[in-house]
Amino acid sequence: MGYGPVGAVLAARLGALGVRTLVVERTAEPFPLPRAVAADDEVQQLLDLVAPGVVADMLRDQQVRFLDAARRPIGTISFPRGAGGYGGLAFFAQPSLERSLRSAVAAQEAVEVRLGVGLASFRQDDDGVTATLADGAIVRARWLVGCDGASSAVRTAAGIAWRGRDLAHEWLVVDVAGALPGRAQFTYTCDPALPQVDMPLPGGHRWEWLLRGPVPAVEVLLARDVTPAAVEVVRAARYRFGARHADRWVQGRVVLAGDAAHTMPPFAGQGLGAGVRDAWALAARLAQGGPGDYEALRAPHVARMTRLSLFVGAVLQAHTGAAARDILLRKAFSAPALGPWLSRGGPRDSRSGVL
Ligand SMILES: Cc1cc2nc3c(=O)[nH]c(=O)nc-3n(C[C@H](O)[C@H](O)[C@H](O)COP(=O)(O)OP(=O)(O)OC[C@H]3O[C@@H](n4cnc5c(N)ncnc54)[C@H](O)[C@@H]3O)c2cc1C
Repeated sequence: MGYGPVGAVLAARLGALGVRTLVVERTAEPFPLPRAVAADDEVQQLLDLVAPGVVADMLRDQQVRFLDAARRPIGTISFPRGAGGYGGLAFFAQPSLERSLRSAVAAQEAVEVRLGVGLASFRQDDDGVTATLADGAIVRARWLVGCDGASSAVRTAAGIAWRGRDLAHEWLVVDVAGALPGRAQFTYTCDPALPQVDMPLPGGHRWEWLLRGPVPAVEVLLARDVTPAAVEVVRAARYRFGARHADRWVQGRVVLAGDAAHTMPPFAGQGLGAGVRDAWALAARLAQGGPGDYEALRAPHVARMTRLSLFVGAVLQAHTGAAARDILLRKAFSAPALGPWLSRGGPRDSRSGVL
């Protein structure tokens, strides 16, 4: 249920494994604007296995730099190449990624996709699930997988609790069209007055600013880095990120994956990647007859990546302690053992065990 990126990876994988699958998606077209942008080496490898060649369209082998409020360098992270040969960080355009994933699904004979019809209700018994769709159709399946996003109707209807919290402040996310050659690196600008993240995307560039007080005009914010009149804003949206997880990911014949099972702030670029890993792991298990150790395998890695995302967010958003943060970070990046470890990505661990 749900044909976002996670539902698409699950459907493509189930189809490749010969499992008869019905995808139900309430919208007719993929969401047209980018949300997730980053993939680590393992996620690139998984996506390339599902939709061969999809990684070629990404901006690959990216670094991450930290600047202080005066735009002086604090440190740079160059993620090592993973065991599968993929670079440690790549940026993608989510709408184009979703189109490639849907093409991979379309090539699978075992998969049927129904677009423009939502799930209305379902009931489960010992052997499976009977679902009623919004157009009145009734379908029967051995398993119902909710890949229906953070506000998952499947999770709610199954009575599974949604734990965690939202962050205290909203972020403003602005995408502009066209590459900006002068800003080709992912950058955390650790400015206590206005923490900022910006990154190149295929065919564009994104900025994210923490909103602590009144919201400045987008042009005023952009003017910190570019001439606003020289760029075309394609999207400006406010988000309140959260770190949440479902109490359980499997309940009887109902399973949750992706944002329906967990959300995390985007600061470590792991939200969509976690869902891609879920889908890969779950497909292999459903093809064997049931979810088995799916949650036990995935939940610990999701919890680690959520903690990492919150930690990176806290470092970036430091307010009163910003001066101490800058000193500590500089020392850490140049320390004999800590520095090289941090410069290779520190606690980020892309080996989740799903491959
Ligand atoms: C600003 C922002 C930046 C982000 N940056 C990153 C990043 O850098 N890296 C990263 O990995 N992640 C990032 N994320 C997170 C990422 O976008 C999500 O993790 C990802 O899109 C979740 O995919 P999903 O398929 O689980 O859910 P969704 O993309 O939400 O898809 C759910 C689908 O289910 C459908 N649906 C819902 N209810 C029903 C129903 N009742 N019946 C039928 N269909 C239904 C919806 O229409 C939708 O198509 C970011 C998120 C945001 C908001």
